[in-house]
Amino acid sequence: MRLTLLGTGDAIGTPKIGCKCPACMDALAGGPSRRMRFSVLVESEGSRVLIDSSPDLRWQLLKKDISKVDAVVWTHAHYDHYAGFGDFYRVQSHVDVYALKNTMDYILNYLYFLKPLRHDATAYEPFELAGLEFTLFKVNHPPTETIGVLIKDGHKRAVITSDTNLQIPEESLDLMKNADLMLADAITPPGYNINKHMNAEEAIGLARNLGVRDVKLTHLSHLYPPHQAALKNWPLGHDMMEIVL
Ligand SMILES: [Zn+2]
Ligand SMILES: [Zn+2]
Ligand SMILES: [Zn+2]
Repeated sequence: MRLTLLGTGDAIGTPKIGCKCPACMDALAGGPSRRMRFSVLVESEGSRVLIDSSPDLRWQLLKKDISKVDAVVWTHAHYDHYAGFGDFYRVQSHVDVYALKNTMDYILNYLYFLKPLRHDATAYEPFELAGLEFTLFKVNHPPTETIGVLIKDGHKRAVITSDTNLQIPEESLDLMKNADLMLADAITPPGYNINKHMNAEEAIGLARNLGVRDVKLTHLSHLYPPHQAALKNWPLGHDMMEIVL
């Protein structure tokens, strides 16, 4: 399978509107600190699944030259993870969407003018999609119901934490163990304590404790140094980064 980090920014995105910090200045100049909001594209043998539909989805699909996906999986009902779904409007009429029931209710209420094909999923119950096995597992992003996603392609396993702090349920940690790749929420560098998210130190520590082979940090804020400098210290993802497993 191939994963593309369509957007590696937090809800604000980089540049943050009006900000003149070093990362935002790099982003404004078109540098690699520029980050769209969160979406991951998962591809396998011609099939495509989108994990979350970023408010920046239109530009992300244009950049990847994609006009059709097989399904969308929503991790939670925060604006930066679903609001771009309307960008499918008149591009693709019938889209299969997967989420936990409460998440689905909230998002489809917001999208009342669209009629995607609803599939309510249950945490820890695997389902097949586009030739891949998906398992949604609970994470901890208070107070919002949020799931991470485990994707299996044969013996290869990729984990997307979505937005979470370190207090992830044991049953989920068991699923995440020894993954080949983890895309981990790390909204800030070390030294910040954000209740709803991990910082870089926490995300890297989690990956290490779980025996994960490779970790890429995502959902990144402008509080990091500019991308090239930050890379010396942390394995940051960048927009349109592709990883093949
Ligand atoms: Zn988010
Ligand atoms: Zn800034
Ligand atoms: Zn969130």
